[in-house]
Amino acid sequence: MVDTAARADESVRTPEAPAGASASAASAPPASGGAALKLDVELVARKLLGSFAQVRLDAREVARDPRFHRAEGLTLDEQRERTLAQMRIQAEQGFQLRAFPKRLGGFEDAGGNLAGFEELVSADPSLQIKGGVQWGLFAAAILHLGTAEHHDRLLPDAISLAVPGAFAMTETGHGSDVAAIGTTATYDPETEEFVIHTPFRAAWKDYLGNAGKHGVAATVFAQLVTNGVNHGVHCFYVPIRDAETLEFLPGVGGEDDGYKGGLNGIDNGRLHFDHVRIPRSNLLNRYGDVAADGTYTSSIDSPGRRFFTMLGTLVQGRVSLDGSTTIASALGLHIALTYATQRRQFASATPGVEHVLLDYQRHQRRLLPRLAQTYAQYFSHDVLLRAFDDVFSGRADTDENRQNLETLAAALKPLSTWHALDTLQEAREACGGSGFLAENRLTGLRSDLDIYVTFEGDNNVLLQLVGKRLLTDYATQFKGATKGDLAKFAAGQVAGKAYNEGGIRRVGQNLADLAGLGHSIEALKDHDTQRALLQDRVDTMVAAIGAELNKVRKASAAEQAEAFNENQDALIEAARAWGELQQWQAFTDALETVEDAGTRKILGWVHSLFTFTLFEKHAAWYLSHGRLSGRRAQAVTAYINRLLARLRPHALDLTAAFGFTDEQVRAPIASGAEAIRQDEAMAYYANQREAGLAPVDEKAAKKKAAARG
Ligand SMILES: Cc1cc2nc3c(=O)[nH]c(=O)nc-3n(C[C@H](O)[C@H](O)[C@H](O)COP(=O)(O)OP(=O)(O)OC[C@H]3O[C@@H](n4cnc5c(N)ncnc54)[C@H](O)[C@@H]3O)c2cc1C
Repeated sequence: MVDTAARADESVRTPEAPAGASASAASAPPASGGAALKLDVELVARKLLGSFAQVRLDAREVARDPRFHRAEGLTLDEQRERTLAQMRIQAEQGFQLRAFPKRLGGFEDAGGNLAGFEELVSADPSLQIKGGVQWGLFAAAILHLGTAEHHDRLLPDAISLAVPGAFAMTETGHGSDVAAIGTTATYDPETEEFVIHTPFRAAWKDYLGNAGKHGVAATVFAQLVTNGVNHGVHCFYVPIRDAETLEFLPGVGGEDDGYKGGLNGIDNGRLHFDHVRIPRSNLLNRYGDVAADGTYTSSIDSPGRRFFTMLGTLVQGRVSLDGSTTIASALGLHIALTYATQRRQFASATPGVEHVLLDYQRHQRRLLPRLAQTYAQYFSHDVLLRAFDDVFSGRADTDENRQNLETLAAALKPLSTWHALDTLQEAREACGGSGFLAENRLTGLRSDLDIYVTFEGDNNVLLQLVGKRLLTDYATQFKGATKGDLAKFAAGQVAGKAYNEGGIRRVGQNLADLAGLGHSIEALKDHDTQRALLQDRVDTMVAAIGAELNKVRKASAAEQAEAFNENQDALIEAARAWGELQQWQAFTDALETVEDAGTRKILGWVHSLFTFTLFEKHAAWYLSHGRLSGRRAQAVTAYINRLLARLRPHALDLTAAFGFTDEQVRAPIASGAEAIRQDEAMAYYANQREAGLAPVDEKAAKKKAAARG
């Protein structure tokens, strides 16, 4: 098992010693109202660690181990073998056991398992994702879709890595629409076997981790056909390679996906099947079974609900990507903000002293709102992880909780994965040329995380699921409504109600805005008003889409589909707004638990920066819907700039609270080396001036000569 002797005190950095910070070099921030306050870094670090703190600290110890670190400059084959070797060490250490049943040596700790997995992103995303394929997809499919017999027979080797496995769901022809995959599993009662078959090229399984080289078996998703009836997608355990020679077994074929845009430690590949026979018992039959005579039975009558229930058991991938990309964003910000407090460029008013980058407003603008967003994500991820643990521990495993969990995961994963790409790119640019060097990690992280927006559910497709759920909930409110009620709804009265109740009309009024900035902004600082504004945006958008769809309620299916498509973009925007509201709520709730006054004040500014950045981002909507006046919208931007100046002195403490150690950061530009270089350069010029050895500036020399006549 993992070395559990966690050194929490080491892992949680103190304000005096954030990784890579050098006291001498961290520039004195400009005087500001907030500079006298102090953030209690340890307190905030504990908050950010969330509900599975000890597991995270243990996993950080693993992430610090050089054996698990991403190595640059290896060939494709070397990268893949290195990643497999890393996984073997992990398997020996028992890192992967947490999710599995106690009777098989596991801990049955669903939430803790994901927390530990997420922390691996700072070591090597390839290791994280290849491990995710093995234990979070291949073995998890056996666990969640199989029954006790499968657990006893198949899980031990999947857990120990004796059988490296692929999770074969996606096909070249169908990725997001899994229900439409082409692979078939046709039952043959004569031999009591399923026949796994790929009927055409587009039905080749594709992009599968472990399929390119190492996989010996696969959990294959296919249309289950028995007695001439297609019962929809089910999962089957299929051996694919000889364990010794790694040659494909008869009837199985495949290709290597080759070099990818990132994650090259993983051997992604394609698989196809030519009438491959597997025993009936290899159907993972928790939700649907086939008797010896071919009779199909399921505890879930509706094929659609059965399909979504099966997929829902695999929600952990989405949950864990939300956490992983939040940590990666934090790491990118740690590197860029550390550098920004040490790197000097352009002379300041003080002779011989150049400005550090973070003193420039534009630099603050680029990094601090992203820091605020990352903070919000830490808190919303913890809410998601707890919801996941409640369901998967069995403590609160109800249909409603499962649906809520799936909706929340589908909303947060897109926001955080997009945020990571945006943040890593901005961090890269903020570090100039240094940011482009592989040794400083930002480009590598960015390319490895690129695909996180696509796998485990493409972001736009996931948000559409959230949008549909919002519409369903909305329609439920109108079940049994009269024509009059619907007419009112169509006229936008429902949205208008929220508009009045939340005091939003007040903040939208022009007259009240004629006073100064402080007055204009005051109402927006109130949490109830903030919530009302964010909630109202969701409600108004959903109501407007609902009204459009209601018009075609009785039209043909084709017309309904067309109307839905005409509103698809708006629906996805509504879903995104709902996700932002969840992040805001989680951050607001977390803020309320902070008792230390200085810390609460500073975190309150971070919260404000997050919220006002949302208002600014959606200013066009708020303005066009009369929720904010032009004057107030301008005040939002001005207030953001004030917040940046207030937060500037606390930027390093806020990143220190992420708790990264030097072994996790591993970026020379964030090691303090830049500060040493800057100090050396400044000392050199100072010494020259003191010794009178500094050459005279041309302008000054000319002036002197002119004065002499
Ligand atoms: C590195 C990597 C590893 C992977 N690992 C695995 C694995 O181990 N096992 C596995 O089974 N799969 C794996 N996948 C596959 C991955 O899950 C799919 O790529 C993903 O589900 C998207 O499917 P697709 O590529 O077919 O894209 P598509 O579904 O074709 O989507 C393409 C684009 O069209 C958009 N789009 C699609 N449908 C709609 C719609 N209705 N409305 C609006 N826009 C839409 C999407 O937003 C997307 O931008 C992996 C992929 C990669 C690249």
